[in-house]
Amino acid sequence: DAIVVPKTVVELINTKEGKQVPFLALCKVLEFIEATTKRLEITALTRDLLLQVMQVGQQQLTPTVMLCINKVAPDHEGIELGIGESILMKAIASATGRQIAKVKQDRQELGDLGMVVQQGKTNQRTMFKPQPLSISKVFNSFKEIALTSGSSSIQKKTGLITGLLAACSDIEAKYLIRSLEGRLRIGLAESTVQVALAQAALIYERGDKGEPEAEEFQQASENLKQVLSEFPIYANVIESIYEHGISDVANHCMLTPTLPVKPMLAKIEKAADDILRRFEGKPFTCEYKYDGERSQIHYVRKDDGSEECVIFSRNAENNTGKYPDIARSVKEFAKPSVTSFILDCEAVAWDLVTGKIRSFQTLSSRKKKVADESEITVGVCCFAFDLLFLNDEPLIRMPLRKRRELMREHFSAVPNKFQFAISKDLTEVEDIQGFLEQSITDNCEGLMIKSLDGDSSSYEPSKRSMNWLKLKKDYVDGLGDSLDLVVIGAYYGKGKRVGAYGSFLLACYDPDREEYQSICNIGTGFSDAALESHKAQLDLNKIESPKPYYTVSDKTKPDIWFEPIQVWEVKAADLSLSSVYQAAYGEVNADKGVSLRFPRFIRVRDDKSPEMATSSTQIAEMYENQKINH
Ligand code: ATP
Repeated sequence: DAIVVPKTVVELINTKEGKQVPFLALCKVLEFIEATTKRLEITALTRDLLLQVMQVGQQQLTPTVMLCINKVAPDHEGIELGIGESILMKAIASATGRQIAKVKQDRQELGDLGMVVQQGKTNQRTMFKPQPLSISKVFNSFKEIALTSGSSSIQKKTGLITGLLAACSDIEAKYLIRSLEGRLRIGLAESTVQVALAQAALIYERGDKGEPEAEEFQQASENLKQVLSEFPIYANVIESIYEHGISDVANHCMLTPTLPVKPMLAKIEKAADDILRRFEGKPFTCEYKYDGERSQIHYVRKDDGSEECVIFSRNAENNTGKYPDIARSVKEFAKPSVTSFILDCEAVAWDLVTGKIRSFQTLSSRKKKVADESEITVGVCCFAFDLLFLNDEPLIRMPLRKRRELMREHFSAVPNKFQFAISKDLTEVEDIQGFLEQSITDNCEGLMIKSLDGDSSSYEPSKRSMNWLKLKKDYVDGLGDSLDLVVIGAYYGKGKRVGAYGSFLLACYDPDREEYQSICNIGTGFSDAALESHKAQLDLNKIESPKPYYTVSDKTKPDIWFEPIQVWEVKAADLSLSSVYQAAYGEVNADKGVSLRFPRFIRVRDDKSPEMATSSTQIAEMYENQKINH
């Protein structure tokens, strides 16, 4: 039978009308969600929770949604939870009156700090009954904790967390700690919360007019996802839902310069002759695929003459501090008639002397924050490939041909600073093949092939779309695309590598289960210098035991474990089924995972967070594709 939010929890929310929704109500629902793996059930539970909270009011709904997605602010604000284990252990020790050593020992035994504190709480007698926690109180405290910085920040954070723990009752401490760790691990993905919010909003809007149809639910979820990929601030989107209803929110929360758009991504194409088949006679363009860093340049000139320029990474991180030179040259490449824009570009390391593209490795030696432009040692040229917004108007629903025309009309190339991505609108396989070869000669990764006209050529934020294909030379005979994997452990080296790490344990990410699944042991592709620098970097993130959300079999246990922080790009000969590695376990074979054969290190992917690593579903797809192609 389907799990439903029990009446007692509903009452817990509703009896508080106009007041604060208790944190316990949320935790109870999270507990039900944790108990099931059925997606529909998880969605229904979340929807019911959000619907109840929605009736209490907007002030309560935003923090509830934010706690469900485990965030304190939109991604681009860069305010993150993910509190380190040592601070959490200190707070737990002080809230439960135990020694840190005992907390550590319990953590080893129980495997999860949430469980440790849960147990500690039940063993401890309290002198007086603390004030129950509300959702708003928890959310605001989380924000305060995340924002605390400076010299005594560890003490302050520990104090705030201890205070929250002391007020916890029932199962609250477990979810509180897990949230602070930055991972709830109950299988509640952000996309599910979005579907649940859309459904709740639709039911709320309908009132007594009857239950919405399945297609209406579907439409509402798609609308909301689209809105959030163009306008990534839940607080404003929720406010707009209350004011205009879910069906009209897209007309009020639109693309806005200075707010990052979730970038459109491409699917892999293995051979030039498949491209014609894919596009079925529809016109397409081929552009160089530059090997640098995605840069979304936003610009606004306000009525009072003041200006703002922000550059976002692929990850929606604010990268303006890394590229002050690009920000400064906006005036040179945007014509005077331009008052606002969003350009999609690739920033590439550039050799001023030869006027040629330099390698990605060169670009990655640029500092993350450039304090003074005189510090810049690596020149950068921006290659623009799309225009998403111009002079107060969103363009993403226009055909690419039109967007490209507008881009070329309103912007101009500036030597060594700004150029349009080189493109050719080709129709013959031999020409595509020739252009691919040329792109490689010109230090690019290959080609991007994009639909040019009609609906299929609109810009699709956040989608990995068939209307954008990437063709790289090594797809033709290798495994195809490289993988982006998270380093979760290391093995001590032998022989020449004694003292360093000899190899590393890598994992892919399963966003539904919020799990890192082991995929291979990698020891190839590193220079000695690289091995040394990896060791120095990784050692900053050593942990004593594996995270509960690492799935690793005993046979592949590493000597050292790491926090899931670094993402590495890796190539391999092919994928094979494995009884020890856990990637995509159960997805292609009931009791086997997938592993990489002959993995080789390519580079560190600083522009990807660990949650953006290759997913277990992508691994399963790659494995299946390989079967078809062989
Ligand atoms: P990859 O490792 O191949 O960059 P990815 O997952 O980061 O993978 P993809 O969708 O595979 O992204 O490829 C698109 C990326 O290629 C863009 O994010 C952008 O950074 C880069 N790029 C370079 N040139 C272009 C171009 N002309 N059009 C679109 N993207 C381009």
